[in-house]
Amino acid sequence: MSNAIRIHQYGGVECLVREEVAVPDPGPGEVLLRQTACGLNYIDVYHRTGLYPVGDLPATLGMEAAGVVEALGEGVDSVATGDRVAYPMCLGAYAEQRVIAADKLVRLPDTVSERQAAAIMLKGLTAQYLLFRSYAVKPGDAILVYAAAGGVGSLLTQWAKHLGATVIACVGSQQKAELARVNGCDHVILYRDEDIPERVRELTDGAGVSAAYDSVGKATFMDSLDSLRPFGVMVSYGNASGPVEPFDPGMLAAKGSLYFTRPTLATHVATSELLADGARHLFGAVTDGLLHIQINQTYALADVAQAHSDLEARATTGSSVLLS
Ligand code: NDP
Repeated sequence: MSNAIRIHQYGGVECLVREEVAVPDPGPGEVLLRQTACGLNYIDVYHRTGLYPVGDLPATLGMEAAGVVEALGEGVDSVATGDRVAYPMCLGAYAEQRVIAADKLVRLPDTVSERQAAAIMLKGLTAQYLLFRSYAVKPGDAILVYAAAGGVGSLLTQWAKHLGATVIACVGSQQKAELARVNGCDHVILYRDEDIPERVRELTDGAGVSAAYDSVGKATFMDSLDSLRPFGVMVSYGNASGPVEPFDPGMLAAKGSLYFTRPTLATHVATSELLADGARHLFGAVTDGLLHIQINQTYALADVAQAHSDLEARATTGSSVLLS
């Protein structure tokens, strides 16, 4: 048996309930994992509210964790008992123990703790594909990054600076503005008060940015399009303020032959090869000192409702980790 945080219905934080669940023996290709640290992600909120349905209920929430391999199912040779491992994008992370397919796991280098892995696997791999694949950032590019002091934002902005970009950060408070500056952001827009496209034009001598990394969604969609240079890339990768409303693609032509993409990490780690490549790149960036991992909130797994409340209230910065 394992302690787990499950939902029986979609809704508010009161739907998160702590329960004892049976843990099966690992089947062929699977391992039993003792999880010590679990990452908190905004997708957990979308799952809890039902914006992204999770399938059959009850369901254990959580998409990212790190821990130690305790037992191997038949045919597993990619990891061994006692290995420290982590994974992103596998529902069921809010639990002390779980069974998971071995090919979803990445072995941790000695330089990365389980807590650190739980803070960066999902968010860091997201920053990686956004910066290298959704739009390949080049030296001299100006880019716009929303929620820049948040989980994904803190990693994305640090990495973008090492790629030679001019980073314009949108943040929701003065405290977050300080953090964005510490992370190397060149300019900060307090976007709850300031006009985003107007400030972006001022900061780029009228040119606009090469890419807008928009995780806020509904509230900022038009501002992002209006901040891009001709042929700029709109990367809409989240819905913290609600999903983007349907729009007329002709608008992309009118605003300067813009490109639009709506990516998900799920595609970018869909095979064990993609996952391993991304993780190697991410851990390399940590080991080389490009990324400083900022675990600014920790909670007991049992206090996950508080963690969700803080995330939705825009009260967190950097990464949040739940500890078993
Ligand atoms: P964050 O730590 O960035 O927290 C969310 C932040 O969004 C808040 O702190 C707040 O920052 C900002 N925000 C703006 N409007 C709202 C609102 N109405 N309600 C709540 N927050 C708001 O979370 P994560 O790092 O976990 O995720 C960031 C975003 O990236 C999410 O939208 C998530 O869905 C997305 N994501 C997408 C992935 C993908 O592959 N497509 C993968 C991973 C994450 P501020 O106060 O500065 O505005």
